Amino acid sequence: MVREAAPAFFTHPDLGDSIGDDVADWVGTLQLGNGEFFVPDVNQRALLRAMFAGPPGVTYQTRDKKWFSSQVAVVAPRQNLKTATLEMGVAAALWLLDARLVVWTAHLYNPAAAETFLHFKELIDCNPHLSRNVKRVLEASGGQGIELMNGARIKFQARSKNAGRSLSGDLIVMDEAYALSTAEAGALIPTRSARPNSQIWYGSSAGHLDSDQLRLIRDRGRDGVPRQTYAEWCSTAECASDRCNHEIGEPGCVLDDVEEWAKANPALGSRIDVDTIRDERVSMSSLEFARERLGWWDEPSAGQVIPGPRWAACATDGAIVGPVCVFADIAIDRSVSVVAVCGNDADGIPQVELADMAAGTDWVTDRVSQIVGRNEVLAVGARSAGPVASLLPELKGVCEESDTEFVKVGSGDFAGMCGLFFDAVSGKALRHRNDPRVDAALTAARAHQVLDAWSWERTKVDVDAAPLVAATGAFALHAQRSRVVEVDPLQNIW
Ligand SMILES: [Zn+2]
Repeated sequence: MVREAAPAFFTHPDLGDSIGDDVADWVGTLQLGNGEFFVPDVNQRALLRAMFAGPPGVTYQTRDKKWFSSQVAVVAPRQNLKTATLEMGVAAALWLLDARLVVWTAHLYNPAAAETFLHFKELIDCNPHLSRNVKRVLEASGGQGIELMNGARIKFQARSKNAGRSLSGDLIVMDEAYALSTAEAGALIPTRSARPNSQIWYGSSAGHLDSDQLRLIRDRGRDGVPRQTYAEWCSTAECASDRCNHEIGEPGCVLDDVEEWAKANPALGSRIDVDTIRDERVSMSSLEFARERLGWWDEPSAGQVIPGPRWAACATDGAIVGPVCVFADIAIDRSVSVVAVCGNDADGIPQVELADMAAGTDWVTDRVSQIVGRNEVLAVGARSAGPVASLLPELKGVCEESDTEFVKVGSGDFAGMCGLFFDAVSGKALRHRNDPRVDAALTAARAHQVLDAWSWERTKVDVDAAPLVAATGAFALHAQRSRVVEVDPLQNIW
């Protein structure tokens, strides 16, 4: 008998007097179509215990007694335990725990919701004590659901069909949650104050690059946060070489390690057999296999030059108070232009901001002229080549009129500026105002190798590096000019 692997991460509130064991016992009496019973295994029982932890007497209708977890997330490779556990919980919510409305959602083009609908019909058919309470089963395409005698309902929905429409219910299940963006989740989930004691459950396999909602839940869940249950099955092992390319048979590669398969797949040896996974290893790409069978997430930070948390650590609400340097740049398709400024804040720490980012290119010179006219400006800069080159004569003219230094930055010098910028962010020697336009460029940006240094890559079309180029340039010009003042002994005559 194979012992099912425990989750690699499992955080939850105190279990207190959880009714999860009662739920598990009740579910275990339900007959399935194949004549077996719907008996939770060790992991499923542990999950039910965490999901249904709450004060004695808690149900979905008790406003004064709340579930200890308002959110529950189960992340595991497919065919293991995730969907069945959520189905067990939904059956209990509806037949035992007074949920009036349960909404089961899955990603469009995914038959998962239809599959779950079939399972519920099977449960009803095989269990007279359930079917006695069923008023009707709704089969209409897009409107599948089950209604009980007391008016309680479960609805099955594909999420994208309801884009822009918020969901309301005592229990909302987001199956295939890897396909959910943060914006989508925000639009789907209404304020839950209208319901006395609601929950949201997420089920998913490991996240893809754009699984931002699930990644948010994971980052909080792995550490553990109040009112959230989080369980994740995956391999946390690392390949023998950090340059392993995960080809089949590569020595020390985790992707070929059956013991690691077992850690990520608790059903290995029972519902999933080893040969099935061997076949997948051969037929899938290495990255897909790692994600789908080992629970390895596709991480956007894998090639990201400045990791998001490090950048976030430099955010401020403060303002620039000192003289500034200005840097202009234009997107590679010339659709937008950016003007960034950098100056010291009240603590003497340089702060970067986008003064402007707007469509077209013809406004840039006027805006720079305005900044130079109204503020103390140490220098104005732009790249010497690339899209912004067409503006160089005008920008130079503006600077000459106002007796301001103008700097054309060649690619070697700009690579040095990128290094300065990177070091400043790493050492928290820079501040910014969490501008989403810079954040987007930062997330998309990749480093482009220039001799032995690197520079922001300009080939990305969907999110251009221009905001980042401008911010980097403004910061570096400022750093160089402040340094001249600080270290030049001749200027320091007092
Ligand atoms: Zn490997």
